[in-house]
Amino acid sequence: MVTVAAEKKKASLIIIGGGVVACATAYNLAKKGMNDIIVLEKKEIGNGGSCRNAGGVRQSARDVRELPLAMYAVSNIWPTLSDELDVDVEYVQRGNLRLGKTEAHIKTLTGITKKSTDAGLDVKMITGDEAREICPYMSDEVIGASWCPTDGHANPLHTTLGFYRKALQAGVTFISGVKVNGIRKYRGRARFVDTDDGVYEGDNILLCAGWESRAIADTVGIELPIIREFSECMVTEMEPDMFPVMLGTAESDFYGGQTKHGSFVMGGMCGMEPYVSEKDRFITNSVTAPCLSRGIIKYFPVLKDVKIIRTWSGWYDVCKDKVPIIDNISEVPGLTIAAGFCGHGFGISPATGLAVSELILDGESHTIDISGLKYDRFRAKA
Ligand SMILES: Cc1cc2nc3c(=O)[nH]c(=O)nc-3n(C[C@H](O)[C@H](O)[C@H](O)COP(=O)(O)OP(=O)(O)OC[C@H]3O[C@@H](n4cnc5c(N)ncnc54)[C@H](O)[C@@H]3O)c2cc1C
Repeated sequence: MVTVAAEKKKASLIIIGGGVVACATAYNLAKKGMNDIIVLEKKEIGNGGSCRNAGGVRQSARDVRELPLAMYAVSNIWPTLSDELDVDVEYVQRGNLRLGKTEAHIKTLTGITKKSTDAGLDVKMITGDEAREICPYMSDEVIGASWCPTDGHANPLHTTLGFYRKALQAGVTFISGVKVNGIRKYRGRARFVDTDDGVYEGDNILLCAGWESRAIADTVGIELPIIREFSECMVTEMEPDMFPVMLGTAESDFYGGQTKHGSFVMGGMCGMEPYVSEKDRFITNSVTAPCLSRGIIKYFPVLKDVKIIRTWSGWYDVCKDKVPIIDNISEVPGLTIAAGFCGHGFGISPATGLAVSELILDGESHTIDISGLKYDRFRAKA
């Protein structure tokens, strides 16, 4: 562990965790004139899911409570984000097919599609043959799919580090290599942040440390129902332009697509995840990658000889009811939490950054409806 002795230890806002949510929030706050911010990251910026994800920017197959974030991001932020951040975030908007191979899959997809269309999203169910017209390399095992033409994908590294660089340029302080151990209250408000590098102090504190937020929130008596789940991704050699769309499945056993330069980036679950330990996370390839690949080949036999050049893994921060907690915590004034993005927080991150900046500055998110993501949904009902 590298420990830095930072000179600046007091700010209007201390952000715990240096992922895309932290960087996008810091950027949005700085844009509005609040740059007296310290971001504390235990390793490197983007160390968590933010620089390990598959880049899916998806509105379809989301819980309706987080759909406003996804739809706002796609309609208002992603199309111009490269210009805004002065970096090519490689945003591609060519649709998402979510595939089904069984009647049970089709029932699942039909249910979520109906809820999404009721909420105003342009998504519909199509047949297996219609799906093969959009993506001709798909196996005959696919009998139907949901189709959302406005979904897409982007480059997670460019996006996360793009937000980071813009926030840095606007005066935000980022400190890497400092592990946060807990939060302490002063006169009833969250105020002090205990770290391996001593105590930091903020008028407000934003906790967005992925699955590790749970232990930190616990130090001020806040129980977050968030656990971690292992997930693996892989990138292949470059292939000719074959798959314009982003792909997923009813069972979420794999997802991914073809990047602008031709490589496929695909990830998913293979059933071995619960048996992976933290120590194993860098050496899982011999078991998990072939298992994941076999699943993908069942959907796309044409990919059977494509060479994988690298695999990597990360942890999903999975909240009990599969949507994040984004809220000012009334039990601990001064504390805002944005965590539990359940393996799909990248696509909504530009909108999350905006919503969280409004929570911190104005006490509520007035641009995007995040009322379904409040912490008090877990409070015992009277
Ligand atoms: C393999 C994989 C594939 C994914 N694919 C997609 C996808 O295609 N589309 C999509 O939308 N989403 C996807 N996701 C999910 C997405 O990456 C996350 O939802 C998103 O990055 C969450 O961002 P975050 O900033 O909340 O958390 P993180 O990126 O996890 O950042 C949290 C940060 O907090 C730091 N931290 C933790 N504890 C401490 C501490 N004690 N002190 C200081 N710092 C600390 C961590 O080091 C980390 O950098 C995927 C995730 C994984 C792992």
